[in-house]
Amino acid sequence: MLITHDTECSLSVLVELLNTSHEACGSEQLPDVAALSAFVVRQDISEVDSLSPADLAAVHRLRSRLREVFSAGSTEEAAELVNAVVAAAGTTPRLTNHDQHDWHIHYFAPHAAIGDHLAAELGMALAFIVMAGERERLRRCEAPDCARVFVDLSRNRSRRYCDSRTCGNRLHVAAYRARQRSAETVPTG
Ligand SMILES: [Zn+2]
Ligand SMILES: [Zn+2]
Repeated sequence: MLITHDTECSLSVLVELLNTSHEACGSEQLPDVAALSAFVVRQDISEVDSLSPADLAAVHRLRSRLREVFSAGSTEEAAELVNAVVAAAGTTPRLTNHDQHDWHIHYFAPHAAIGDHLAAELGMALAFIVMAGERERLRRCEAPDCARVFVDLSRNRSRRYCDSRTCGNRLHVAAYRARQRSAETVPTG
């Protein structure tokens, strides 16, 4: 698969961002600027200046749009969504080796607002996935009651569940289903 390490890192941030939504996990994980600020630190997102409520709103909007790419019905639809996100952000690809990282490309404009920053970086990561013909790796967790997303980077594309503790392994889910079935078939005497 022609996916670089840098793209993988961006995809990881993408998944973390999408899974902060109420839709994904049942409660809003980025409810205020402080939470967004903590997310930026946790994900080691560079060149972010001060954050405002407008930035938070922009990130929430972006999150919804990026999630649509995961449920796109066709590659054409996915490409259109990705193009719209990236175009609105205004990218300026440039080489950088900040903070002792190896040379890599930043797609966001220097010190862009966080919404534009993430739109450029995460949009381009999605663009590379689509370009590589790997769109089917963008998945939604198959566990019951879970709407988190993940990117399946396994060799045989066999991953079915997100990383959360409740869905992390098949056995747990199988046990859950078995309990549901037995609950449905309790003998009434
Ligand atoms: Zn960087
Ligand atoms: Zn899950």
